[in-house]
Amino acid sequence: MLHPSLRGARACVFDAGGTLIHPDWPRLAGLVADLAGRTFGADEMRRAMSEVLKAAGSEVQKSGAPLTDERTRHWVFRRVYLALGMGEEACARAVGRLDAAHDERHLWCGLDAEAPRVVEGLKCEGLLTAVISNTEDGRLGDALQAAGIASSFGLLLDSQLVGCRKPDAAIFRLALERLGVEAGETAFVGDSYESDALAARAVGMRAVLLDPLGLHPESVCPRIRSLGELLGDARDSTAAS
Ligand SMILES: [Mg+2]
Repeated sequence: MLHPSLRGARACVFDAGGTLIHPDWPRLAGLVADLAGRTFGADEMRRAMSEVLKAAGSEVQKSGAPLTDERTRHWVFRRVYLALGMGEEACARAVGRLDAAHDERHLWCGLDAEAPRVVEGLKCEGLLTAVISNTEDGRLGDALQAAGIASSFGLLLDSQLVGCRKPDAAIFRLALERLGVEAGETAFVGDSYESDALAARAVGMRAVLLDPLGLHPESVCPRIRSLGELLGDARDSTAAS
């Protein structure tokens, strides 16, 4: 049975990074192994990224302004490397390598293991599916293509291409308009508390926060640990409430 937030909904809109697709962690670790003096594990990188994003969200909420480094190339990965103990200089040197690797193949090309089944399942239930993503380079389609899931969505909105970005209400309203649905009959699923969940909720959408590590007990939106819960998969015993 569908998650309560999806029952009776006509559409489900997803965030991309951290929700449908994930960074290619082994490649990101390999790129800086010499600079870091060790090879980071995927799990520690994943956790560091979740914490970086949570801290970034709090910063934005407190200051009411965009992050100072948000327009800096690969700011998330720089902050992840810093959090894992690399120095500022090593992080700065990593940027050129990230650029080169990203040109070759999108760095966010790891498909969430449950995403294909969940998206197909929602479509079978008659829901329209779409993606809204904040990108630095207009390559949302490219990322989803590299991950092998681009063709599953009827609508892709890339912030860089449409000229507005989450958490602005404008990008959510644009998706609703293009899908031809009302906010109240549309779910939004994303991993950022501020830019996805609270922002979608503010326009009246049924926001669901993907919180795999349980970092957001303060959430006023329903939380899921994994995408499978959207189709009613049982959550594990440590699940977020
Ligand atoms: Mg995200």
